[in-house]
Amino acid sequence: QVTDPLAKEGPSSPSYDWFQTDALVTIVIYTKQKDINLDSVIADHRDDSFRAETVIKDYSYLIHIALSHEIQEDFSVRVVENVGKIEIVLKKKENTSWKCLGHPLENHNSLIPKKDTGLYYRKCQLISKEDVTHDTKLFCLMLPPSTHLQVPTGLHVYFKLTITGTEIVKPYTPVSDSLFSEFKEPVLPNNKYIYFLIKIYPAGLFTPELDHLQIGDYVSVSNPEGNFKISQFQDLEDLFLLAAGTGFTPMVKVLSYALTNIPSLRKVKLMFFNKTEDDIIWRSQLEKLAFKDKRFDVEFVLSVPTSEWNSKRGYISPALLSEFLKRSLDTSKVLICICGPMPFTEQGMKLLHDLNFSKDEIHSFTA
Ligand code: FAD
Ligand code: NAD
Repeated sequence: QVTDPLAKEGPSSPSYDWFQTDALVTIVIYTKQKDINLDSVIADHRDDSFRAETVIKDYSYLIHIALSHEIQEDFSVRVVENVGKIEIVLKKKENTSWKCLGHPLENHNSLIPKKDTGLYYRKCQLISKEDVTHDTKLFCLMLPPSTHLQVPTGLHVYFKLTITGTEIVKPYTPVSDSLFSEFKEPVLPNNKYIYFLIKIYPAGLFTPELDHLQIGDYVSVSNPEGNFKISQFQDLEDLFLLAAGTGFTPMVKVLSYALTNIPSLRKVKLMFFNKTEDDIIWRSQLEKLAFKDKRFDVEFVLSVPTSEWNSKRGYISPALLSEFLKRSLDTSKVLICICGPMPFTEQGMKLLHDLNFSKDEIHSFTA
């Protein structure tokens, strides 16, 4: 059934069509939206079924079909942005003519609220694992060739592992492989690799298990989730980032995106809270970036410093924030992003409200 909950707001429900040549089958999705890009489509081919989820505002438009004939593992996705058209090109296994695309599976050709779509997982392979600090590692996972998925800036995914017979699910936020990689051309074009900075807690439920995976092992990774919107960057002049511990992870792509894509941007400042110097993730990269890009500044605040530490110390506080959150102009459009342990984020949010920042000027990263 085709529901059309967007109709009231103006845009009409997406539709799809398909056509074929001897070797290819092309599925065309007409989203009837302008702000569609390659991040908007998540497509998976598994056994004989094909699933493509197109994210349109808070809705998902699903193509979900048991294909009538076999296809090769990999496929390609193209987007014609100005008309909101998506083309998914499948490669036939045999050059025969298809009479139909296949038969519909659950929710095929329907537009459903994103919150009702459930998490869809595919198995990703562990490619590498590198120490970053004494307890935090950079994991590189590879998507299967039968998946098209790009995680938008500010969103996270869920990992799923079966631990002693029970499926356990935890959220993780993709990062780039370094703070400088967004500025250079990708070495490999089709974004098959996803990087994560993950802290291993020896007494934790999930991370020790993740740490025990061998190179070549698999972990299930979900579709992107979260409520950060790139439109929050529109006309932005000052970006303030408040991160504690691994709460730094969403800031990686946020800060690279802002420095690369927002022409109005004057200043990006990161205040990074950690227990000790040894806990600071990518410290030298952050310092190097601050040196290279005059718009970027970083300050480290330690809650358990050694006596030699002669910079800022303590937990998040009114004094630290009021000094840090200085607009570059009185009228600057600001965004403050905050992420870290729950008590840190809650306290920070309260302090930001006390400092009269409005809801639109604050984004807190949570599950
Ligand atoms: P847990 O079993 O949850 O335990 C964590 C620690 O708390 C351990 O030291 C444990 O001993 C202690 N503990 C557990 N229960 C209690 C208790 N009741 N009382 C006192 N102590 C307790 N993490 C990252 O490293 N990188 C990321 O990119 C990342 N992204 C995230 C994105 C989102 C949206 C959210 C919500 C979280 C994110 N996290 C991230 C955190 C991640 O999801 C896990 O919470 C984290 O990896 C810990 O999982 P765990 O099962 O290993 O530990
Ligand atoms: P941590 O224990 O190393 O603490 C880092 C800093 O957080 C401390 O130095 C301190 O400044 C601050 N802090 C800790 N407890 C505090 C408290 N009670 N009150 C005020 N400030 C406090 O942190 P960690 O082990 O790296 O944990 C990072 C947290 O960030 C985890 O809880 C994780 O779930 C969360 N996280 C959330 C997201 C998200 O998108 N929501 C993403 C990544 C990480």
